[in-house]
Amino acid sequence: MAKKTTTKAQEFEYKAEMKQMLHLIIHSLYTNKEIFLRELISNASDALNKIRFRMLTDKDVLDANADLKIKIEVNKEEHTLSVIDSGIGMTHEDLVERIGTVASSGTLEFVKQMQQQGKQLNAEMIGQFGVGFYSVFMVTDEVLLETRAADSDSKGYLWKSDGGGKYTIEEIEKSDRGTKITFKLKEDAWEFAEDYRIKHIIKKYSNFVDFPVYVGEEKVNTVEALWHRPKDDIKEDELNEFFKFVSNDFQDPAAHLQLNIEGAVNFKALLFIPESAPMSFFRNPDDFDSIHLYSNKIFIQDNCKELLPEYLRFIKGVVDTEDLPLNVSREVTQSSPVMVKIKNTLTSKILAFLKEMAEKEPEKFEKFNSNFGLLFKSGVNSDFTNRDKIIELLRFESTKTEKGKSTSLKDYTGRMGEKQKEIYFISGDHRESLEKNPKLEYFKKNDIEVLLLSEPIDVFIVPGINEYDKKPLKSIDKADLDLSSDEKDEKEELNEDLAKSLIDVFKETLGDKVEDVVASKRLVDSAVTLVSGKDGMDAQMEKMMKMMNKDFSGSKRILEVNMKHGVIKNLSRLNLASSTDPLLRKTILQLYESAELLEGNLESPNEFVARMTELLEQATKA
Ligand code: ADP
Repeated sequence: MAKKTTTKAQEFEYKAEMKQMLHLIIHSLYTNKEIFLRELISNASDALNKIRFRMLTDKDVLDANADLKIKIEVNKEEHTLSVIDSGIGMTHEDLVERIGTVASSGTLEFVKQMQQQGKQLNAEMIGQFGVGFYSVFMVTDEVLLETRAADSDSKGYLWKSDGGGKYTIEEIEKSDRGTKITFKLKEDAWEFAEDYRIKHIIKKYSNFVDFPVYVGEEKVNTVEALWHRPKDDIKEDELNEFFKFVSNDFQDPAAHLQLNIEGAVNFKALLFIPESAPMSFFRNPDDFDSIHLYSNKIFIQDNCKELLPEYLRFIKGVVDTEDLPLNVSREVTQSSPVMVKIKNTLTSKILAFLKEMAEKEPEKFEKFNSNFGLLFKSGVNSDFTNRDKIIELLRFESTKTEKGKSTSLKDYTGRMGEKQKEIYFISGDHRESLEKNPKLEYFKKNDIEVLLLSEPIDVFIVPGINEYDKKPLKSIDKADLDLSSDEKDEKEELNEDLAKSLIDVFKETLGDKVEDVVASKRLVDSAVTLVSGKDGMDAQMEKMMKMMNKDFSGSKRILEVNMKHGVIKNLSRLNLASSTDPLLRKTILQLYESAELLEGNLESPNEFVARMTELLEQATKA
């Protein structure tokens, strides 16, 4: 394998701590072996970056015209692999100082601590120690490393080690610049002697390495680091292809955002909003592969949860920063201040991007909202820094929007009449049933807009938004609505005494089924409705709580009675004749249960129907 040896091989012994380290690496890292290739390619790419940089000022290097590339040679029969680069290469001193030594002091301490605490070393950690090269010993028992540094008078060396206590270095003939690492795969790693497997790993981890990676004659990393190109330079086709690569999506993205941030934190990003939410998205958003983190074009990790707040996790794409060390581990990224800065910048950029979309492309935004609103809206409750910005981006259907169309709170308040002081909403399962809710009658009649909240998430966020533009948000399910202002009714109401006396019978009949019975201001066509007390829970919210917790007992409701309604007036007449008339009592119960039925809360349909049949029989008597 190695060329003719010109001097005797020199034997070196690893320092004690390096020995321990190697032992730990080789025996602890049994999972995710494939990352050895990422580490070798990453080192090769570093070496290529270094020579490229040096050649900016020094043309006088060995092989100045060599292609900057990485070659992987796979020999299936022999089970060998070689990783070859035309990078900066290593001197004898480099081999001893860099390959033969643990880079960072304290590394061993850290690893020992982990072991003592019984924690498993994982593959992501390996890079953190500056010993990425040694991950190759997970798949082989012996490594040959041939290298020649870039200086024109450099010599070639062969470095050899079995990952045990010793390594050797000998001088060899090597005509070209760079490094070739060759090893025979252990039997349990023979899978890596397959071209397709190697190509797959390269695509997965190293597709955006800035130098071509060849397996045999084939260049495997087809997609370049698009995010490093100027915005105007990137064609739509390329964006689409890149999106599909990073997202495993099959559709083109709905929108993209390219960022090049310099200052307190430095990063480039190419982000996408998918055309639609994948099936699994809402079932398990945690598994949703979101942002891929790169450090200077080298892939570090996918689904980097630390880069976005949860409510923006529908965003896909790449973030590439030079501010993180290459090969930073997941543990480190989780607590890194750099990550926090990137996350904050990303969040405000994405919100600004969505704001612009909402203003300039409202239909596109509408679609985004119907796809991802469920997650996005939850930001109101979790991101207090950006709460106001998120609230501006909320969209709801309303009694003044067509079905499927929505309005912002800003547009809603713009349409408010002078007398209207509050923003009204009602929540329920569907727009259709909400529109028929008796509580809306008054608002319809007086042309007051009401937001129709039919998304479950709305119930959790809207009651928490106390006011918008100094106008309180009120559920029209609440009993304390200020509705006196727009009174303009032609129908006659029962006089106060009659009303009071009838309400007393209602109270007596319903007992502790209700918190109270009051004369309604909001009903127009319906006879009664149930509302929540001032401090009570919104009806829809209560329903959801009950669904989640069987033992949840909601607060009692208030029955509002429409004193202008025909049936109520009839009841008043019955009441005058005899307040103990069974028909009066039965009708009151029936009215109460009808209101429950409309809310989807009727407990005993059997009793309800039996009573109704009885009442019908009476009504149809000859
Ligand atoms: P890290 O890459 O995290 O520093 P490694 O153990 O992977 O740790 O590598 C140690 C050092 O060996 C590198 O920093 C680099 O100086 C040198 N090295 C490794 N591979 C190569 C290569 N292909 N070409 C040149 N130098 C290399």
